Amino acid sequence: MTNIDVLSTRFAAFDKMHSYESREQSYVDWPFREDCYCTPEKMAKAGFVHCPSENEPDVACCFFCLIELEGWEPDDDPMSEHLKRSPNCGFLTSKKDFTEMTAADFYHMERDRLKVYLKKMCHKKMAYLREDIDRTLGRLTSQLDI
Ligand SMILES: [Zn+2]
Repeated sequence: MTNIDVLSTRFAAFDKMHSYESREQSYVDWPFREDCYCTPEKMAKAGFVHCPSENEPDVACCFFCLIELEGWEPDDDPMSEHLKRSPNCGFLTSKKDFTEMTAADFYHMERDRLKVYLKKMCHKKMAYLREDIDRTLGRLTSQLDI
């Protein structure tokens, strides 16, 4: 699971990933090419940006909904995987391609992308807070048992 710092970094960098070409250029070391279905072209068309790490060379993240997928198989269909795991993604439900967007369309996409990011951040912060509360409660309870 992505941590808060990774999520923030990706959100900030992905404002340049509305265009297919920018996403496609991120697949420099993508392991699936010839004889595969999930090629860099199909990954980029489905909204994914390649976000590899040392231990996870096939991590891809949607620039819009920030869903992270890994463990790709050569025959996976990026668009159907995206639809299956994030059916309400604003990129998938958008009627216009980036090249057809007006400035107002782009503004609305960015506003919605910000909402998705803030919602994810709130969920992560609440999860950290819950863990902290549970740890503190555990410590206090153990002191009462003495
Ligand atoms: Zn998405």
